[in-house]
Amino acid sequence: MIPGPIEVSPTVLEAFETPPPSHLAADFIENFGSSIEMMRQVWCAGPDSQPFVIAGSGTIAMEMAVCNLLEPGQRALVVNTGYFSDRMAEMLRRRGVQLTEVGARPGQVPSVDGLKQALEARPVDAIFATHVDTSTGVRIDAETICELARQYDVLSVFDGVCATAAEAFQMSEWGADVYLTASQKAVGVPPGLALMVASPRAMEARAALSEPPPMSLDWREWLPIMNAYEERRGSYFSTPATNLVNALEASLAEILAYEYRGERGISARINAHQVAADAMRAAWTTLGLELFPATDDLAANTLSAIMYPEGVDASMLADIKKRGVIVAGGLYPGRKQDYFRVGHMGHVITLPEELLKTVRAVAEALADHGHDADVEAAVEAAAKHL
Ligand SMILES: *Cc1c(COP(=O)(O)O)cnc(C)c1O
Repeated sequence: MIPGPIEVSPTVLEAFETPPPSHLAADFIENFGSSIEMMRQVWCAGPDSQPFVIAGSGTIAMEMAVCNLLEPGQRALVVNTGYFSDRMAEMLRRRGVQLTEVGARPGQVPSVDGLKQALEARPVDAIFATHVDTSTGVRIDAETICELARQYDVLSVFDGVCATAAEAFQMSEWGADVYLTASQKAVGVPPGLALMVASPRAMEARAALSEPPPMSLDWREWLPIMNAYEERRGSYFSTPATNLVNALEASLAEILAYEYRGERGISARINAHQVAADAMRAAWTTLGLELFPATDDLAANTLSAIMYPEGVDASMLADIKKRGVIVAGGLYPGRKQDYFRVGHMGHVITLPEELLKTVRAVAEALADHGHDADVEAAVEAAAKHL
């Protein structure tokens, strides 16, 4: 129950656990091609958008976005909501991009007015934002940031590593230019794939660069490979992570076939994350706990960042683990000892008994550490939603 690597489904594990397939095997080519097609659906992206499946991590996906969209001397605005926004800002700086950062107090998001002022004060070429910052559990309003980007006619890039396939994101409808993630988060695959979808405008930005990005990160090198697999032809630039691509195909297919409360596919999946998050938050409230995000509407559906109550500290995490549940410590610089994090994304949201086991483990560990916790009431509060 950490915010990635997450638990994967048995189907995904089965697709992954094979002798390494050749990148030119017929069924591998089919799986790669259909993964690219299914990514457009999971991302809610248009037919003219370009998915990329690259061996790598979320950080590599971030780096790809940075160096394919902007070159030294160009300008960007970073909407800074925590640890991963800091990382994005540092990457942009290293690329030689001139940076405006608009931040907020920990657990909060910058105001739209603040972002507008920054854009008025200093025009930029792109806005970068973290959809869910995994260090704080804060979710930004991505739709509004897309609107701003269109209004100012600049690119918009979203780090969706802790959000994609779990939080609502309408890539084409909102007009976002890059939405990126990594395989080990809500997409529900073991770690090792950098995944992103680029808009036609983003691809034009790459074409307009005067100096190409580093070769292994260059969309222009990868585009013919993605096109070949989508046309069901094998191709080679750099060996794909073949087991992981097979696992990706299984996971995307599972997400798109998922049925929940009368809906099917990505919208069903997103609703189920909302319900799981509501259930977990109901339990935390019942236990008298406070969240790191300043207000409920800022709290992500993919994880809970929970403040330790009075008299309880990080030593509690070992007692949660003893009960068969692994959660994560804090990550926000300077505040790591103040809170812990419980991931609730991907396959686990389809397993109410696992969510309730987690609530029970946290509640019992809190009680062990002297917090006045009504374990049964917390479990019941969560169960009501599921
Ligand atoms: C996990 C995460 C990353 C980094 O992904 P890696 O695969 O660890 O490189 C980046 N951004 C966010 C929001 C994340 O949650």
